[in-house]
Amino acid sequence: MEPSQVAIIGSGLIGRSWAMVFAAGGFKVKLYDIAQQQLTSALENIGKQMKELEESGFLKGTLSAEQQLALISICTDLKAAVEGATFIQECTPENLELKKKIFGQLDLIVGNTVILSSSTSCLLPSKLFTGLKHVKQCIVSHPVNPPYFVPLVEIVPHPETDPSTIERTYSLMKKIGQSPVKLNREIEGFVLNRLQYAVISEAWRLVGEGVISPTDLDLVMSDGLGMRYAFIGPLETMHLNAEGISNYCERYREGMRLVLNTFGSVPEFSGEIEQKINQAMSEKIPVVPKVLDARRKRRDEYLTGLAKLKKQM
Ligand code: NAD
Repeated sequence: MEPSQVAIIGSGLIGRSWAMVFAAGGFKVKLYDIAQQQLTSALENIGKQMKELEESGFLKGTLSAEQQLALISICTDLKAAVEGATFIQECTPENLELKKKIFGQLDLIVGNTVILSSSTSCLLPSKLFTGLKHVKQCIVSHPVNPPYFVPLVEIVPHPETDPSTIERTYSLMKKIGQSPVKLNREIEGFVLNRLQYAVISEAWRLVGEGVISPTDLDLVMSDGLGMRYAFIGPLETMHLNAEGISNYCERYREGMRLVLNTFGSVPEFSGEIEQKINQAMSEKIPVVPKVLDARRKRRDEYLTGLAKLKKQM
């Protein structure tokens, strides 16, 4: 049987990673971009990454790197790229006008069954898709960088998205080994970034008020909270840290409310505190492309190891 086909629009960091995730799932992938040169180097980069993953035993899926790479083709013609696709994942830069233009173009050329999905990190579906003829087929599937190693995908519908689009997207994400979650309605920052920003803003205030150093603040997460959160979420943590949620609330509701009432206002993320945090981070990791890339590579290796460990448990 011919493998199902997907189209990826934009072959940058996220587009390349989606292409690898779909190819690992056995899908035929057409990768579209505006520049041929960008596509050629994206394909080269994907091939290199797949080979390295195969050598280190971390390649996903049952096919070899060569077989997976053969599933991916590149294309600079939008119509040809989406022809025959059952799912289109848009991965162009985070710019509302650009994305609206691309979805407007897609709206004119697609049929009534394909799903039009965006990787946007923070643009609301109502901003992206309102007015499109195929709005029922539109959805946001927000990945976490790098999607190949961090499987979460936030599925965020437009108010007019058909329930079958949500269900089909959810099943597809499961099928390719990602970990989808459904938001019942759109909200600024979706869920992941709302949680992330809550943590970042308290981290900023604590360092800004001189309670703790920037490097120690990071350790609180990496050697403390984060160790738990890689396996169980905050609600299950509450459940297990007492005799269930109700008992946790009984014991800790007063204390939590007392602490939460001491939280400050939304930080400016500028000025002296920015300089202080920037200095500390830059001493640890100089802002030089080579050094940053090496740290990113190390991060991905850690994430790969963690993903492997989670699979074994
Ligand atoms: P990127 O800049 O690495 O890649 C964007 C790609 O889009 C480039 O290859 C560019 O040539 C191409 N492009 C530009 N205009 C185009 C057009 N008109 N048609 C087709 N392709 C076009 O960006 P990225 O980091 O891969 O981000 C892509 C999307 O994914 C954004 O919406 C971003 O918010 C989202 N996202 C990013 C991350 C992240 O950490 N990088 C995480 C989750 C979601």
